Parts: sequence; structure tokens; C-alpha cells
Amino acid sequence: MRSKIVAGNWKMNKNAEETQALLAALAAKLPDTQAEVMVAPTFVNLAGAVSELQASRIEVIAQNMHFAESGAYTGEISADMLMNIGIDTVIIGHSERRAYFGETDGILAQKVKAALDKNMRVMFCFGEELEDRKSGEHFNVVHSQLKNALFDLDASAWNKIILAYEPVWAIGTGETASPEQAQEMHACIRKTIADQYDTAVANNLSILYGGSVKPGNAVDIFSKPDVDGGLIGGASLVADDFIAIINGIA
Ligand code: PEP
Repeated sequence: MRSKIVAGNWKMNKNAEETQALLAALAAKLPDTQAEVMVAPTFVNLAGAVSELQASRIEVIAQNMHFAESGAYTGEISADMLMNIGIDTVIIGHSERRAYFGETDGILAQKVKAALDKNMRVMFCFGEELEDRKSGEHFNVVHSQLKNALFDLDASAWNKIILAYEPVWAIGTGETASPEQAQEMHACIRKTIADQYDTAVANNLSILYGGSVKPGNAVDIFSKPDVDGGLIGGASLVADDFIAIINGIA
């Protein structure tokens, strides 16, 4: 179902005590909003976060998972393990996983399928590099990322998919897509899904923007009709900033 979502990707930041402190601050300051609010602490702090947020409507989600059910995959985490500690949503395809850990479209397709097979919700990240945008290839790149990882899915699977468009040149750089650039790409993505499936699937889909969203630019980006919220990196590590961004979607 299409909803407004603000999600914080904490990446490899915050130890157990820091995680607990940030969660407590967020839970205490969470505004009364219709938006879904999610945080993705690092794996070792997920179970503690679920327990810390038991009485809060903030959802704890995972940053990644492996596609196999179980077995000899040293250092990896399965969908069952996540679900076993109360995690129902997983980020798949973040550009840092693609760039630093060799995650190809083919691997991501397997991960998406594995998560959906377990009835998990998938927040699928994708987006073009700076060179792609400069050469005018950004729409084609995004189309092929979606096609290669997601277009084998049945239409019914899409009610478990959240898309997060994250232009790589805007992630952690302080450079943000303008609200117009975000809207242009989000509208194109929605049309791509409508063409591939139908307008019902496209109109039911939450499409988030990610890339240097801050308190100062969130309202303008979130005001665009095809932007259903944001995936936030750096600014989600500071309680007041993340709360201000959540307020931007109300
Ligand atoms: C991200 O890593 O998903 C992200 C959007 O990071 P930042 O907000 O720091 O650009």
C-alpha cells in the first residue's frame, strides 16, 4: 500500500549504547504523523533496537540480508534470522552494497526473491552515477536496474516493495537532487512500473528519495507529488535532525 515513509539508514555507525540513546531520543520526540518511520541500525544492534522500540511505532528494519536460507556463508544473515527477532522489512541494493561488496543486479534479484518468499517487505535502492546523469543516461540506467532486479516479479508481489531512488552522486556528498530532478525521476519510475505492470501497481507504490536529505531541504523534496518520503543517511544519526525531517512530511 502506498504510504509516506521516512527511514533512517544508520550504516556502520553507533555502538550498542549509542544506538539505545538515539532510539530513546527518537521515541520520545516522535511527532504525531501519518508517515511510517523506520530505522536501520547495524545487525548486532537490531534485536536490542526491537526491544527498545516495543512501545513505539518506529519500525526497526535491516540494512541487508543474504539470499540463502542458511548454510556456509560466513558473516552473512538470512531472512529467517531477521524475522526471528521481529524484523519484517529489509533494505536491498543500497549503492554502497553495490559499489563495495560487488552486489550485482543478479544477486539483488535473488535477495529480493528470498525476502519476498518469507513475506518480508523490501526497500529496494537504485540510482545512477554522476557520469550517467552527465551523459543523459540516467533514465536508462534506472530502468535497467529496475528491470534486472524486479521485473520478474508478479504484480501481486509489488505490495511488499518500497522503492528508494538514490542518485549515487547525492549520497553522503551534501549535494542533493533538486526537488524538480527528484520529481522528474520519480514520475518516470512510476510510469515505468505502470507500463510494465499497470497503473494500480504504480499508484500503490511508495517511492522514496535518498541523497543528502537534511532538515533544510526535506519539505521541498517531500512536497513533490511522486515523492512519498525519504531514505536518510547522515542526518538520521542526529535525533533532532531526523525528527525535523519527519516533521517535513506531515
Ligand atoms: C543513504 O545512504 O541512503 C543516504 C541517503 O545517505 P545520505 O542521506 O547521508 O546522503
